[in-house]
Amino acid sequence: MKSPTLAQLRRQLTGLGAKPAHLERILRLWLRAKPLDTPFRKAAAATFFPASLLGALPAFAARLADLARVHAEFPAEDGACRLLLRLLDGQRVESVLLPGEGVCVSTQAGCAVGCAFCATGRHGLARQLLDSEILAQVALARARRSVKRVVFMGMGEPAHNLDNVFSAIRLLGLQGGFGHKRMVVSSVGGPRLFERLAAEIVHPALALSLHSADPDRRAALLPNAPPMTPEALVAAGEAYAHLCGHPIQYQWTVLAGINDGDDEVAGIIRLLRGKHAMMNLIAYNPPAARDSDCAPCGEDRIVEMTRRLNRAGILTRIRRSAGRMADGGCGQLWARTT
Ligand code: SF4
Repeated sequence: MKSPTLAQLRRQLTGLGAKPAHLERILRLWLRAKPLDTPFRKAAAATFFPASLLGALPAFAARLADLARVHAEFPAEDGACRLLLRLLDGQRVESVLLPGEGVCVSTQAGCAVGCAFCATGRHGLARQLLDSEILAQVALARARRSVKRVVFMGMGEPAHNLDNVFSAIRLLGLQGGFGHKRMVVSSVGGPRLFERLAAEIVHPALALSLHSADPDRRAALLPNAPPMTPEALVAAGEAYAHLCGHPIQYQWTVLAGINDGDDEVAGIIRLLRGKHAMMNLIAYNPPAARDSDCAPCGEDRIVEMTRRLNRAGILTRIRRSAGRMADGGCGQLWARTT
């Protein structure tokens, strides 16, 4: 069965007699994981909603819950919990409840970018997630924990699903109670993404997958990313950083013998010195099934790179993927169970 889009859900409510104020309240309660008949400013639902709509709310809430259901969960020692979710048509995607009141959501089932170090990329794209399915991941996370931050960093490439991703971001910003900075879109970049970011009214923080300062090496690591040189990517990122007011986070998965050399450290300094940016060096978490040439880099080398970059004025920190202890990594639960 196919999931309804956010627009179809709105139309269903309108058909049940909902006026704009009713729509707004129902969506707001859904995104906050509260019962749809929660009293509002002391007004009971019975006095706020028309009777036809009130009577239909339990069935509508069940429809919302069907958008994404937990298929399996994998708690980790670091406080993260990886959720393998089942969508209405049987597709499965991952969400991660992050330590520190965050949730990481997927934007596609699978991914077409094919990054050399990513489990998801090895299986290609199954389909785009709808805006409603992205929002359902947030609602589901909030039903389990307090969530104040959403990162679009799960399965999929947001720049390949712009309409659904930005429809979800708009609603999370306007009705979901998330400040612009509390939403982080992680992307390989691309001209269409930057055009869209500039045109939107909600401006999320941006994390850009850089991974190499060398154009050919980056193209080999991210084979189906839109063709943009590292220079062009950083220039577009810098323009957006000034528009939205928060720094760009550059992502760099450190791979032994591939992008951990002195040439790359010099490249990062050349690209990012003086920019409104920070660098995240990510310790690679290899999938259980090893079918790529990528290997993790030693801890000492990552620490050394971090020290050199910070000394050169590039604010740099080491990141580890949350849920590492749960045998997780980008798309690994999904890859293990399909
Ligand atoms: S790292 Fe992200 S963009 Fe690259 S293949 Fe995996 S999901 Fe896609």
